[in-house]
Order: sequence, then C-alpha cells, then structure tokens
Amino acid sequence: MKIPAEITAYYASNEGVEGGYYDSLGNLLNPDHNTCACPKQIPFHSMIKIGGTGTKYDGQIYECLDRGSAIEIDDDGVYHIDLLMHNKEEANAFGRRKNAYIEILEGTEINMSKFKVSIDAGHGMNTGGKRTPKLQRDLVIDGKVVKHKGSIIHEFEFNIEVAKALRKALERCGVEAKIVNDETGRIDTPLNTRARTANAYGSDLHISCHYNAVGSCTAFQSKAKGLLVLKTKGGQAKSTALANAIHNELKDNYSHDYGVGIDTQWSGFTLAILRQTHMPAVLIEYGFMDYEEEAMKMLDPKWYTKLAEDTCKGICKYLGIKYKKADNKEPKDEFRPYIARPTVDGLNARKGPGSEYDIECVLDKGTAVTVIAEVRAKDGGVWCKCRAGYYVNKKYMNRVRYA
Ligand SMILES: [Zn+2]
Repeated sequence: MKIPAEITAYYASNEGVEGGYYDSLGNLLNPDHNTCACPKQIPFHSMIKIGGTGTKYDGQIYECLDRGSAIEIDDDGVYHIDLLMHNKEEANAFGRRKNAYIEILEGTEINMSKFKVSIDAGHGMNTGGKRTPKLQRDLVIDGKVVKHKGSIIHEFEFNIEVAKALRKALERCGVEAKIVNDETGRIDTPLNTRARTANAYGSDLHISCHYNAVGSCTAFQSKAKGLLVLKTKGGQAKSTALANAIHNELKDNYSHDYGVGIDTQWSGFTLAILRQTHMPAVLIEYGFMDYEEEAMKMLDPKWYTKLAEDTCKGICKYLGIKYKKADNKEPKDEFRPYIARPTVDGLNARKGPGSEYDIECVLDKGTAVTVIAEVRAKDGGVWCKCRAGYYVNKKYMNRVRYA
C-alpha cells in the first residue's frame, strides 16, 4: 500500500538543526546502512520503501531507527520521513520532497494503537446548576418512560454516556482511550486533576464533553440551540485542526450550530481543561439542555451514540487513521488475519498444513509473518496458512496483534 509522504533528509552532525551523531535507539548513525526517522506509529526496525521523489532514492529500502520532533503524521495524513544521508551536500541536494510516498514492507505493521485520546465528561452528577429545567412531559425512549414529568436531567448523565460511547468507538478504531474523571459522577473531579491525569497519560489529544445552557436552567428557552465546538485562545494550530475536523463530522446532526469558537469569546475566560492540558484539546457542547427538543434527546442512546461516532470520525481524520464502522455482527467465529512470530528457531514452513508436506523454508525465531487462515491438519493439529503461501504449526507461533 502506498502511503502519502513528505520526505526530507538529514545527516550526522552536532549542528542544532540536525540530530546529533546517534539515533533514537542510542546507536551511532550509520549512513552506509539505509536508515531513516519515521513517525512514532511506525515501529523501529520497520522496513520502508521510498517512492515518488523523482530521485535515485526511489525504490530504495530504509530501516526505521530514528524519530524526530517534526517527524509525524500531519493533519492531512501525510507521513513525514527523514532519510539519513552521508553529508550536508547530499542532504541539501535532496531537499524536501512533497507528494512522495512510502510503502511499508510486509511483517511490519503501523501501530495505531499508540495513539491515545483522553476524554472527560464534564461536571459530576450533583454539580450545582448543571441540569435541565423541569421536564414538561414524561420522557419516553423506545417506549419506556425514563424520566417523569417534573424531573430533571443532569448534564453529567449525557456527558458520561457520550464519553463512554466515544471511548468504545475509538478503541474499535485501534486508538487507546481513557476517561479522566470519576465515571460514577459521585465526585465532580476537579478540573486540574482531570488535566493532570490527561497529561500523565500522555494522550495525543483531549476531548471534553458537555451540554450547553444559556441561562440558569430555571425554564426552557427558545433562542439558542445546536452545536458549539470550543478551543482555547492562542491554542496550537493543531487544536484548531482537531476542532475543525470534529465540527465537520458533527454539524449535520444539527439544524443550527455555532461552529468552532474560542473559549474566551464565549465564556469570557479560558477554560481550565483546555488551558491546562498539554495536548491539542477541544471542548464540545453537544446541544443545549435548556432547549427543550435537545434536552429531550440527551438520554437517547441513538442520539449520543451517533454524536460519539461522528466525533470519533473527526478524530480519525485528524490522526490520519481509518475510521472503522461499528459492526453489529457477532465476531466470535470469524477469523481475523494476524501477525505472529515463531517461538522457536528453525521452524519448518511447509507447502501444506501438516508435517507430511515438504519443507519450503525455515523460519527464525521472531520472524514476523502474516497468518491469513488457520487449517486443521490430518492429525488434528492446527496449522497457520501464511500470506507468503507456506504453512506453519500453530503451536510454535505467538500471535502479536491482528493484521
Ligand atoms: Zn458543561
């Protein structure tokens, strides 16, 4: 698969702009062995093939041994790659090659699970004020009364559901996700604790989930409704890119929306959760709880699940990864291709599933192979059919991750 890339060059030097004499693994940089710096999603020792630069480096294979602060997957999903050259002249001649591509060779998979998202569900169950006005009629969802006329909905009841649905959607897409507040809502986790937990977790971005209100929520109003995505003033360009990506996916759920706003313009001050978190962060007001129609949707799983999925889509776009739809089928009996490594040295790879077949080659311990099927052998044992065409006995294979 060709992955869009922007390719630059560097050389071993102690000049400030270059990377010093050592790679990120602590080994001396060696230009005679084709090596490069890749975004963190590409594991070390991955072999990548260069293409589309229009230079003699096209078709060459480089080993990923290095990282760099600007070596990342950018907002458009373009992979930045830095190739190690012999000297300054060679690096300058190469320059910067946009619209290039890379191919990642088999056996190495991009590890998207390394992306982490922290989520906080705004407030706690009993935080003062953060609730709808008294409902004017029974709230019925799927034929069941979930709130009686005269009762209220806490903002937290929505916030935690959308946060959990977002976590679930992100995990399905291969992203690690963590909710940084008390999920029970018994405690309104202080904002600086939420931010500190997100920072310690080292998330790549933070999402704060809320439901808006215009006034004190003593009565429903008819002026303000819809979506508002907030970022903090002077926040990194990345927060803007993240906010735009999410807003773009969410906006069609609303008849009105306020677009992407800056916290100081809306609340008069910077929001702590956006200010104290060290990563790109946005706060989403998913609707108005003092606008009756939107209040009555807060506890509807169809509503908050759709909003969470669309938020996840925006995050995936921002991270440059594929959004995977929810699959309602039971996946239990379905086989999924996976990456595995032999647990022994000299494992026989055979032409068919069983030790009666001829040996095609011998695999070293630790060699990554892609298993595309599992086959029952005559003696009852299970054999792995590998993408390369040969078969190996499953009992000597250790599954690393799904392909
Ligand atoms: Zn709120």
